[in-house]
Amino acid sequence: MSSNCQFCGHAHLTPTTTRYIHQQSDALLIVEEVPCLRCDYCGEEYFDGSLCVSDSSPKPGNFAGTKCNACI
Ligand SMILES: [Zn+2]
Repeated sequence: MSSNCQFCGHAHLTPTTTRYIHQQSDALLIVEEVPCLRCDYCGEEYFDGSLCVSDSSPKPGNFAGTKCNACI
């Protein structure tokens, strides 16, 4: 992953955790304490690829280090 923010170009991203919210049709999935990189300047957050949402059935079991076909 690039160390520069792709949104504003700021050079420093800080490893942190965030709340990840995924909405798909009428389903809302919220996952707490998801590891990510956050831009110090604009706050844009980047996930490291360990986070994944299945297109067919978003649920917590689809997270936790697995990757789906869409994000490989
Ligand atoms: Zn930024």
